[in-house]
Amino acid sequence: MTIDAWAAARAGAPLEPFRYEPEPLGEHDCEVAVAHCGICHSDLHLVDDDWGVTRYPLVPGHEIVGTVAAAGASATALVGKRVGIGWQRSACHACDACRSGNENLCPNKTATCVGHHGGFADGIRIDSRFAFEIPEALDAARTAPLLCGGITVYSPLRRFAVGPGSRVAVLGIGGLGHMAVKFASAMGAEVTALSSSPDKAGDARTLGAHAFVATSDAAALKAARNSFDLVLSTVSADLGWPRFVGMLRPHGTLCFVGAVPSPLTLDVDLLLKNERSVTGGAIGSPARIREMLAFAAAHGIGAEIEAMPMASVNEGIERVRANRARYRVVLDA
Ligand code: NAP
Ligand code: ZN
Repeated sequence: MTIDAWAAARAGAPLEPFRYEPEPLGEHDCEVAVAHCGICHSDLHLVDDDWGVTRYPLVPGHEIVGTVAAAGASATALVGKRVGIGWQRSACHACDACRSGNENLCPNKTATCVGHHGGFADGIRIDSRFAFEIPEALDAARTAPLLCGGITVYSPLRRFAVGPGSRVAVLGIGGLGHMAVKFASAMGAEVTALSSSPDKAGDARTLGAHAFVATSDAAALKAARNSFDLVLSTVSADLGWPRFVGMLRPHGTLCFVGAVPSPLTLDVDLLLKNERSVTGGAIGSPARIREMLAFAAAHGIGAEIEAMPMASVNEGIERVRANRARYRVVLDA
């Protein structure tokens, strides 16, 4: 058994064809024939070793939809099923986090493409407890990005009880951000898109945003003070964060899901006023992923994608790097 994949040999290198022998199938493992895999910005952080955790050769890819081709003794019921795989590869299933249904917060969790080979490949072996059956109504290619980007924004929207009457701002209308706009508006919230790309205004409204604010428009940012219950930041760059904290209404929350390079500097007075909170989000639990897939099926939600053959992976990565993807590149295996 060999897997044909695309790998970076060193930090920042273009991906090249790479063949490897997977580890034997364990009791809970399954082998998935990859059909589609999205390119998440986290794949670029891994290629570049921005987080200092990458092991090379690196096969990125953690927004996978495919079909289970083989399974260990405890997972045979999945054989032949269409499943999705996201960022998380395994958890200990024994710690407090796991036992309370927060496996995404398990201190012993592993990630699909950190120290393991990911989904830019024709196959992958993974713990079947992190392979999720895809409802029949969902299109495979448009669903792949939900497995990481989608759950990462869906989870805080649910954690902060977003619904009718909520005012939500989504900062950064990229892969994660465009799915956040879709989910929040389907939940009934009033959604504002905050973007550094004025040309995304029309798309943002089509995605379900009620308002669009260009982050270069100082007057519009000032007018947005004390406006939102939740500001969900999906950007991976350093911005002037106090401005966005100042946009929160009483008891409002700024939730980071995008990883930013520099530490946060905030005047505590901004938190005392309006009793605001600043927090983060880490993907979502298996239960939340199943719930999100059902929600997506019920509301007809999928990512807006640019489909490309797997062999065009480097072109896809460059589109994401240049902020040109509209809105998620999905590779076809
Ligand atoms: P993406 O598709 O590249 O989108 C990011 C968006 O952020 C861009 O489209 C752009 O939106 C905005 N942006 C980018 N650079 C900017 C800059 N210099 N200044 C202002 N805005 C900028 O990336 P993604 O796949 O959505 O991922 C976003 C971040 O989330 C990454 O850091 C990724 O690693 C992280 N992530 C975290 C988790 C988690 O569990 N917490 C899971 C998945 C991904 P506009 O053009 O609208 O400004
Ligand atoms: Zn991701």
